[in-house]
Amino acid sequence: MSHPQNDSSAAPEGSANALDTRLAQAGYQAPGSFESLVAPIHHASTVVFPNLAEMRARNWERDDVYTYGLHGTPTTRELEDRLADIEGGRHCVLAPSGLAAISMIDFAFLKTGDELLLPHNVYLPNRELARTLLADLGIVARHYDPLDAAALSLLITPRTRLVWLESPGSVTMEVADLRGLVAVVAAANARRPAAERIVTALDNTWGAGLALKPFELGIDVSMQALTKYQSGGSDVLMGAAITRDQALHLRLKTSHMRTGLGVGADDAWLVLRGLKSLPLRYAAHDRGARALAHWLAARPEVARVLHPALPSCPGHEFWLRDFSGAGGLFSVVFDARYGTAQVERFVEALKLFPLGYSWGGASSLSMIYPPSRTGTLSEKGAVVRFNVGLEAPDDLIADVAQALAQLG
Ligand SMILES: *Cc1c(COP(=O)(O)O)cnc(C)c1O
Repeated sequence: MSHPQNDSSAAPEGSANALDTRLAQAGYQAPGSFESLVAPIHHASTVVFPNLAEMRARNWERDDVYTYGLHGTPTTRELEDRLADIEGGRHCVLAPSGLAAISMIDFAFLKTGDELLLPHNVYLPNRELARTLLADLGIVARHYDPLDAAALSLLITPRTRLVWLESPGSVTMEVADLRGLVAVVAAANARRPAAERIVTALDNTWGAGLALKPFELGIDVSMQALTKYQSGGSDVLMGAAITRDQALHLRLKTSHMRTGLGVGADDAWLVLRGLKSLPLRYAAHDRGARALAHWLAARPEVARVLHPALPSCPGHEFWLRDFSGAGGLFSVVFDARYGTAQVERFVEALKLFPLGYSWGGASSLSMIYPPSRTGTLSEKGAVVRFNVGLEAPDDLIADVAQALAQLG
């Protein structure tokens, strides 16, 4: 291959270096007068240091220094700052998915011989992580009823170190008695030395940091699947662990650092872009979901609507007490006279709710769960979970109506 441009490889006047060298060494600094409304995307695997003394002085434990691309860039730090601000927290650590944020929290606070407590309706991959990899490490998981704070105290042992909270619960949407559960953990902590303190971690994805303020309830760590509302684009996976406490933050940072978790700059930027419209989108999801939920509550095919803002949802009183809004995600239990095969026909007849697990994007989605997932509910029908997107609510209701007509 010929390189006609090779002529330029000679150093131009005033530069001592050849083209290869100039290209390889090119960095970038924004010109002094440039300003915009958009955070820059800083790509970096390597961070360079001006001299050895500065390199040695930089301590990775600090959030205001840069040591290596994996451990943070100005783009990821900007996102961390804004996420902490949304929740009323002070510190934030990003992870490459919501589930990675869950495992980062587990590894920050658990070691062999420890016990953790999970609500029985916890996000299934969280439960499965505890059942498999954590169990292999000799960490024991027990499950509690999120509506019964008094019962939690019976499960706490001297070895308990972490209590996961989630509200509402995955699929069956029970709203947890967060204040009661946190009070039980606080009472246990008051009787033990600081080194054995039990940490509370809330999966706050449904509330997006908007509808529920975890630190006002005394919760230690708030976990977000940014994949959902913060991104809002159905196009990026990311998670976060947010705290107010510097010591807890350092343990999360250590878990992040030692396991090599990192987030790409382009993905962080997509979430930064999504945050600007987060409150507006969240309110629109809430409006659409409540319209559909109220409509479904009057339908004879539906035994129960599991939407936290409706009195038919277990723990509705806790939603009234603790939440200022609702997301786009809720479930319904079908009347048990419809077999699973019939309810499967219903979800496949939906045109505006494609089958999909995730949520928080512009497009509505649906998912079916077998009757066994109704947990502690007395109803025995199949469960359908709706993620209400940003479509016109009347169109969504019309679509559900035509699919119900095909139930037979
Ligand atoms: C989606 C989700 C997660 C995990 O997020 P990913 O980015 O998909 O790994 C965790 N918790 C809840 C409640 C979720 O909905």
